[in-house]
Amino acid sequence: MFAHNKRLQYTVRVSETNPGLANLLLEQFGGPQGELAAACRYFTQALAEDDPGRKDMLMDIATEELSHLEVIGTIVAMLNKGAKGRISEGVEEEAEMYRSITGAGNDSHVTQVLYGGGPALTNSGGQLWNAGYIDSIGDPSADLRSNIAAEARAKIIYERLINATDDPGVKEALGFLMTREIAHQQSFEKALYSMQPNFPPGKLPGDPRFTNAYFNMSQGEGDMRGPWNSDDNFRYITDRDEQQAVDGGTGLPELRLKPDELAVAKQLVARTSSDPTSDPMTGAELGMGPNEALLDPATASSAQARSRLAPGTGKTH
Ligand code: MN
Ligand code: MN
Repeated sequence: MFAHNKRLQYTVRVSETNPGLANLLLEQFGGPQGELAAACRYFTQALAEDDPGRKDMLMDIATEELSHLEVIGTIVAMLNKGAKGRISEGVEEEAEMYRSITGAGNDSHVTQVLYGGGPALTNSGGQLWNAGYIDSIGDPSADLRSNIAAEARAKIIYERLINATDDPGVKEALGFLMTREIAHQQSFEKALYSMQPNFPPGKLPGDPRFTNAYFNMSQGEGDMRGPWNSDDNFRYITDRDEQQAVDGGTGLPELRLKPDELAVAKQLVARTSSDPTSDPMTGAELGMGPNEALLDPATASSAQARSRLAPGTGKTH
């Protein structure tokens, strides 16, 4: 069950109305790296988790993320409060009101007019929240790695928001939320490494011929060696022939079809075959003025130019 406590996880103080800042903060309310996405990510993972330690941790963190959602949503509502009063009560001249909700060069007019200044489940650009933000796959070694990356992204967004905020109370609360993402990242990492083995994800081992191969596919100036492709860690394959048909086969696609499937497939190929000896007149050529076609010697040899020089003989072969 869930229970609600009326005290926030962190005290929030907002010193002045700022709809533009409120809109930026929506990124962490209804955005892909936001608190709702985090809460849903860990909650759904917890429901399916059978390991008691991971289940408990996921429920703890999911519930804390909902508490962060509450903190962010509260800040958004407070930053909008003054503007919401003004637009709802219509106390300003229309032009003045228009300027005050659009003036910061952001989309705060959308939140003001459409959502009445409340925290909308959108990102800072107005994109609606959606469950596609959550990429859980139902395997702890893969999901924990994804959770670690999600916490890293959330931390970065908070850092950017902190740098865009001059309201000291908002800065402080964002600093707390950012710090908690660091703590979560550590818990997820500890949980990942407390499960042995944890790599590669899943159960099937990789094919040993390829698990430690490094294909130097992009070649030229800028080729670089490091631990990610060192001879100590990898078999570094730079020869183009060795990069192709690495299974030792022909490298050509092979397909078996039943005779009737094959007959129809061939019929389709025949019907749509191209004639390499043709040089068909195109609409673009028909539309060109005569001078333009003759200016370029390369163009002058085309079917189009021939048709200009000898009208009616566009199709000469
Ligand atoms: Mn959070
Ligand atoms: Mn977190």
